[in-house]
Amino acid sequence: IRGFYIGRFQPYHYGHQSVIEHIAEEVDEIVIGIGSAQQSHSPENPYTAGERVLMITRALEHSVSLPFYVIPIEDIQRNALWVSHARAISPPFNVVYSSNPLVVRLFNEAGAEVISPEMFIRENYSGTEIRRRMLVGEDWMSLVPPVVADVINEIDGVGRLQDVSGSD
Ligand code: ATP
Ligand code: MG
Repeated sequence: IRGFYIGRFQPYHYGHQSVIEHIAEEVDEIVIGIGSAQQSHSPENPYTAGERVLMITRALEHSVSLPFYVIPIEDIQRNALWVSHARAISPPFNVVYSSNPLVVRLFNEAGAEVISPEMFIRENYSGTEIRRRMLVGEDWMSLVPPVVADVINEIDGVGRLQDVSGSD
């Protein structure tokens, strides 16, 4: 069984990590799709696909023992074709894990098996909350695995987010 989990991972955090650790108990291999792969350097999507590959790969190297594949997936402007688009670019998968209502809807309509994992302390562990904390200088490092904080610090990820959120 190969499971598929999609997110934007802006940035990757312990909420994602808890879902992946749960998935790892149910499947043999995991495909992680990086959504909106073409986006970067914006307030909602500060990090490039390659930077997100680095965050996820480093975090999973230290936490899961099964094979995983990290696949960037660009947006297409036609939701009705999105499942085919994702399948065309990803290793084949049998089960989809998502709690995102649109993703669940699209895969259900395509006849896929979809499992919706529980939320892990969503108030703190969300990309939106982490980006908010980065902007105002509050603690965000405790919400991500240490290796992810290392990647963000290496690329001056907080400075970048602050710059792309500013106006002239
Ligand atoms: P943003 O606030 O930028 O949307 P996010 O935290 O929702 O960030 P995504 O990359 O959008 O992160 O999420 C990928 C998937 O992970 C989504 O299906 C989302 O529901 C799920 N997810 C996000 N946070 C948690 C969490 N704390 N527990 C469980 N699942 C989560
Ligand atoms: Mg989200």
